[in-house]
Amino acid sequence: MIDRKVGYIKDITPLLPDRERRGKGPYVVVECLERIPCDPCVAACPRGAIRIEGSIVELPKVDYNLCNGCLSCIALCPGLAIFVVDENEGLVSIPYEFIPRPQKGEEVIALSRSGEPLGNATVVRVIDPPKFNRCAVITLKVRKELVNEVRFFRRKEDRLSM
Ligand code: SF4
Ligand code: SF4
Repeated sequence: MIDRKVGYIKDITPLLPDRERRGKGPYVVVECLERIPCDPCVAACPRGAIRIEGSIVELPKVDYNLCNGCLSCIALCPGLAIFVVDENEGLVSIPYEFIPRPQKGEEVIALSRSGEPLGNATVVRVIDPPKFNRCAVITLKVRKELVNEVRFFRRKEDRLSM
């Protein structure tokens, strides 16, 4: 699943719910792969969909019968390892700590886990309340087949200012 030579996930499939659930609406993808003592994701979910069984170093598991893709857990993961995707709508929601925040309607460059450009994406939602502790949640509209490939983005303004 994770290629330790390159340091990122190459096959996301084992982390996803089954095809039927994926077609029913937004769902969380927890890309947490290191056994470290961490568990804010468990308390972050108001529906009890994320659990860590046994030791705190065990990896979180998701009950996809409970997850409704509400986005509440994304910003509260210190590892920036939680995403929500909606395959039907071509939406991917990601944690974003940089300032300034992008604006709704802004066109950005979608990036893969390894930082490879995956084409243009549009910012369709920016959620940035104080309770998220300076980590915004940005929702991108991307090509539907890329919802589980896009995991970050680059602002076009950033490139112009480099
Ligand atoms: S998206 Fe919402 S329901 Fe799903 S795991 Fe995260 S907090 Fe829970
Ligand atoms: S909060 Fe994030 S890094 Fe910590 S266990 Fe949960 S998913 Fe992993």
